[in-house]
Amino acid sequence: MKIDVPTLMLALLIGFLLLSLQLGVAQRGALRQPELRIWAQGSWAMLGGFAMLALRPWIPLGASVLLGNGLMYVGITLYGQALHRYLLDQALPRWRWGAMLLAMGLLALVRDWPTGQRVGTASLLLVLLLLPSTWLVLTRGWRSEGSMRTVGLTLGVACLALCLRGAHAIVQPEQYAELMQDRPGPGLSFLVGFLSLLGAGFGFVLACFERVAKRMEEMATLDGLTGCVNRSTTDALLLHSLERGRREGSPVAFALLDLDHFKQINDRHGHAAGDAALRAFAAEVRARLRSSDVIGRMGGEEFGLLLPATDAPGAARLVEQIRAAVEALELSCPQGQRFRLTVSAGVVVAASDSGISADRLYMLADKALYRAKEQGRNRVLLGDEPAQPPAARLVALPPGA
Ligand code: GH3
Ligand code: MG
Ligand code: MG
Repeated sequence: MKIDVPTLMLALLIGFLLLSLQLGVAQRGALRQPELRIWAQGSWAMLGGFAMLALRPWIPLGASVLLGNGLMYVGITLYGQALHRYLLDQALPRWRWGAMLLAMGLLALVRDWPTGQRVGTASLLLVLLLLPSTWLVLTRGWRSEGSMRTVGLTLGVACLALCLRGAHAIVQPEQYAELMQDRPGPGLSFLVGFLSLLGAGFGFVLACFERVAKRMEEMATLDGLTGCVNRSTTDALLLHSLERGRREGSPVAFALLDLDHFKQINDRHGHAAGDAALRAFAAEVRARLRSSDVIGRMGGEEFGLLLPATDAPGAARLVEQIRAAVEALELSCPQGQRFRLTVSAGVVVAASDSGISADRLYMLADKALYRAKEQGRNRVLLGDEPAQPPAARLVALPPGA
């Protein structure tokens, strides 16, 4: 196999040009992410680097070596900056820019060395600049978006191929004397190394898309203030749980919880304190739920609790624990004043054979909640089995029971 390095360079030049253009288009469209803009800048620098190397027959050798490799070091460092912002939400540490300048200085020192040693040193410097980013993606990026794994793996392959190329060029410099290669080794390591960097770019775009899609899904299903699922999602999950309870023969509990005199909290301490109280309440409830339980914000200061496979005593016990925990919670507003919250709740349980609809379950929970408010608030009332006649018997649980 004969690999012609100038032709490869032209192919890579076109590849990086396409990537840079596509990143620019994505950046102007829906994907307005600064990390993507930085990656695009890195790709333009890589493109410039390839152009300088490809222009070797027409420009002085020293300029081609210094500008070609130097621009690639800038490109790799910009990739590092994009990855750092994406994964850690931080700017690239200064030492990484210092390392890039150091690599450029070393390159200037070796620019007159014989081709083999020069190519070897330039490739190994590239690997050293690439390694911290590769390590970051393989460790911190592995659990983020799935596409980040492909970025980590392709960066790893690029490091490996360029490392082999560097070592090979130092050990067998004669194979690197000419740009035109008779033997496949030097051309192949060049191809695999830089194609992997190109692939990492496409993987990074996909990861950005994945992140945006995840955020949009969260916005469609979650309440932005409290992180609870929103009303339409709670309704859908309630329907699904009732269906499943019927199939599996297990009861489903549903509770409506409403903060008491919440308007007064806003009036006395301000809307920001009210918002903080809603967040604290949601966190307090969430801390007591199983993974299969769901807390939804039904609107304003009213929340729905969906407890699959839970019977009446179990549901009443849990909601009573929540009531007591909320009563014990001490909150403070931005001005420093302290205040407390209480919550009232209505709990209903659908037996697996009750055949009750989600709407009726909701209505019965609302009735129980209304009674709890009427009886003085800060209490949990348990409605009767919903399959029984509509005049559901309500059992009061005294606070602290
Ligand atoms: P009750 O004990 O009868 O439930 O009295 P309440 O004051 O809690 O009920 P009401 O329905 O009169 O008032 C609800 C208040 O909740 C009014 C509204 O300003 C406040 N509220 C609703 N959503 C939010 C929110 O997102 N943030 C803040 N800070 N307040 C909210
Ligand atoms: Mg209220
Ligand atoms: Mg309310």
